[in-house]
Amino acid sequence: MSYQIDTVCIHGQGSRKAIETTGAISFPIYQTAAYAHPGVGRSTGYDYNRVQNPTRQEVERIVTDLEHGTDAVGFATGMAAVNAFMELFAPGDHVVATDDLYGGVIRQFRKVNEKNGMQFTYVDTSDLAAVEKAMQENTKLIYLETPTNPMMQVTDIRAVSEIAQKHGCLLAVDNTFLTPYFQTPLDLGADVVIHSATKYLEGHNDTLGGFLVTNNEQIAERVREMVKTTGACLAPFDAWLILRGIKTLSVRMEKHQENALAIARWLQKHPRVKHVYYAGLTGHPGYAVSQRQCRGYGGMLTFHVDSQETAHRVLERVRLIKFAESLGGTESLMTYPFTQTHADVPDEKRRANGIDETTLRMSVGIENVNDLIADLEQALA
Ligand SMILES: *Cc1c(COP(=O)(O)O)cnc(C)c1O
Repeated sequence: MSYQIDTVCIHGQGSRKAIETTGAISFPIYQTAAYAHPGVGRSTGYDYNRVQNPTRQEVERIVTDLEHGTDAVGFATGMAAVNAFMELFAPGDHVVATDDLYGGVIRQFRKVNEKNGMQFTYVDTSDLAAVEKAMQENTKLIYLETPTNPMMQVTDIRAVSEIAQKHGCLLAVDNTFLTPYFQTPLDLGADVVIHSATKYLEGHNDTLGGFLVTNNEQIAERVREMVKTTGACLAPFDAWLILRGIKTLSVRMEKHQENALAIARWLQKHPRVKHVYYAGLTGHPGYAVSQRQCRGYGGMLTFHVDSQETAHRVLERVRLIKFAESLGGTESLMTYPFTQTHADVPDEKRRANGIDETTLRMSVGIENVNDLIADLEQALA
């Protein structure tokens, strides 16, 4: 029997590891650094917390089932997951990546992987011909974010997976924005899914975490070896917070989306708003692909206002909505990509991608939508 996704958020597909025998409804936090051995040359299966922890294993089980993978590896942060994954590649390897990536991922590629001899080509991956054209003999990976941050560009995962397959390289998709509730990239041909669990999975703006999910046993084994070696494992208490957060993922995602769509439509009609980017709007260039590959559009939207003054005024005036980085939590947050998440992106490049002094990004929370609209109304006035 297989359960529907809202059930999987709470129970997973199978049952818990036999280690937990008390019947505790909420999985315990195994806050320990090490485990006692029953004898010489014997182990309970648990030796040291960097490698094994029951609470971490429980959240990994749920995330594996949600993403339709065979394994998920928990990390201290989303960036730690990206970093460990990129360690599987070697100097001289080439990567084709989305040109509108999360700023921290671009920084990882530039400051760590390029320094270590890897090469990167950034393209608009929603343009399949551009992806094909960027492929080289030594291309070992295509790395996507869809929808992108902050411009909400949508890439056809299935079509890109066919390009990856033809060239014998891997496809990794960052699924932080839509979460497995709305999109399961492994079903569409991806080999690896990356998560910043800090965002929707945990969902309450109160801890950091990351996952790498795959259906390729060899990748899983190499990534586990890497986290054991480099050490950025997910802590037991943070694993528990994410476990608890995921229980309400289905109801949160529905509400985030309902609020985001209402706000996107309201913003479209506002005289000071020039353009709204949300894949759930019929005029969005990624609408058709989204309809095909996703079950929803999520809670993130970006908009352009009429001037830099308006943008600054909105950020200073919002009250219920907080002017803060991050996204995906119960609280609505607004960011200014130009000076925050994309401050490190060369000016010419961020402008070419549509990020300028008038761009605002909103992570729509699960407050009452009329209260959120009233806050935007007074801030935009
Ligand atoms: C936040 C984020 C990351 C990095 O995750 P951390 O948990 O902050 O390390 C990676 N990708 C996307 C899309 C993100 O939003």
